[in-house]
Amino acid sequence: MISKLLIANRGEIAVRIIRTCKEMGIETVAVYSTADKDSLHVQLASESVCIGGPKPLDSYLNMHAIIQAACLTGCDAIHPGFGFLSENSEFARLVQECGLIFIGPSPEIIEKMGNKTEARKSMMHAGVPIVKGCNEPVKEVEEGLKIARDISYPVIVKACNGGGGRGMRIVYDESDFAHLFLEAKNESKVCFGSEDIFIEKYIECPKHIEVQVAGDNFGNVIHLFERDCSFQIRNQKMIEEAPCFVLSEELRENMCNDAIKACKEVGYNSVGTIEFLLDKHGDYYFMEMNTRIQVEHPITEMITGIDLVKLQIRIANNLQLGYKQEDIKRQGYALECRINAEDPKRNFAPSAGKIEFLNLPGGRGVRIESAVYNGCFIPPYYDSMIAKIITFAPSRLECIKKMRVALEEFILDGIETNEEFHYLVLHNKQFIEGKYDTAFASGLIEELIANEYI
Ligand code: ADP
Ligand code: ADP
Ligand code: MG
Repeated sequence: MISKLLIANRGEIAVRIIRTCKEMGIETVAVYSTADKDSLHVQLASESVCIGGPKPLDSYLNMHAIIQAACLTGCDAIHPGFGFLSENSEFARLVQECGLIFIGPSPEIIEKMGNKTEARKSMMHAGVPIVKGCNEPVKEVEEGLKIARDISYPVIVKACNGGGGRGMRIVYDESDFAHLFLEAKNESKVCFGSEDIFIEKYIECPKHIEVQVAGDNFGNVIHLFERDCSFQIRNQKMIEEAPCFVLSEELRENMCNDAIKACKEVGYNSVGTIEFLLDKHGDYYFMEMNTRIQVEHPITEMITGIDLVKLQIRIANNLQLGYKQEDIKRQGYALECRINAEDPKRNFAPSAGKIEFLNLPGGRGVRIESAVYNGCFIPPYYDSMIAKIITFAPSRLECIKKMRVALEEFILDGIETNEEFHYLVLHNKQFIEGKYDTAFASGLIEELIANEYI
């Protein structure tokens, strides 16, 4: 059994993992960059090790420094959190080769499902519907033009190894194809170290619905229902809810069953997420799998009562899931607002600096996942998400009202955040009715800016 675990991450997810470890009686080791020496995760862990300079490549992406820190402190496992090395199969393999447990699926599965074209092939084989597109990386513009014409415009060019909404371009017209194709290729190389890109049909105004899954080393697989993550800016989620308000029971069942089918196809042995796009006609398609804990996992925890990090650690410890599908019941509604250190008035540009004053909301059904505190510094080097506010209530409307109250209590001085934008969204009629798609958020911003509301 794991007795000491290193968390190869920072910020709220590092704090989140430390909390569960403490509950499980597992000792924790935090790693940090020089920019994060006063961070909350460093203060909460049993021990901490500085692994390098502020730049991610020097610290949180520095595989050797991280594994060395784990070995030197006598850890028996590494939890990668999300982002950084969480979907890097080379890292997972290296961790195992050093005799440590990687909290996640086996490296072969990360390789298979972390790559979008490889995942498409597996899903085709499993009989799970995929978006019309190609299953191999596209090298040249000429080849891409042919494929795009075949699929028919609009198409989306995507990085095979992408994440965080980056490395993708939507192409509406053939005349724009060449330069957008090259842009995507370039961004993919810069962000993900690989030029591999592929082409898919661009589904207009879909809903992003994802199914939380878990599988163990004994072939048991369950789903923990769905989340609606359609509220996105630049293909990045900002508000998530569980369950999806507008999904019929029949569609829910089909999607959840397909998610299980997808996991069984690859022998999935951890906690993960199958992402689908649902179009206007009620057809849905597999989009990608995330082979890690997800930012929005707390809303699933709220409606199912299951600690997903604990489950992830148990599975990595080679224990059985401990749940059968019929044990997973959902109750109520949960919402999550991602509070980002960015300025909605300046096109959501990142905003770093010192937090001069902070008041976090509380009360019944309000959960905060964050690593910020009064007087702390938000460094400019990392993802801008600084807090997640999660509310839980018996009905969706009560949940929305609770979130409004929570946002009113949330005070953060010193840097800009998107908090006010969230507040306005929660008063928007279309949002309240749950009838929004992935294009809704950017349209709403334009409207709010035009009316000088933000
Ligand atoms: P989700 O939000 O569904 O958990 P995302 O794909 O948005 O998943 O990624 C989770 C977090 O990890 C985000 O903060 C994102 O910016 C970051 N991230 C995702 N992929 C990468 C990557 N390849 N490199 C760096 N950061 C990433
Ligand atoms: P990432 O790994 O960056 O999360 P995804 O493949 O999950 O990449 O796509 C991120 C978002 O981009 C989706 O949630 C969706 O809003 C949009 N998107 C991706 N592929 C398509 C598509 N084929 N049609 C329409 N929208 C898409
Ligand atoms: Mg995604």
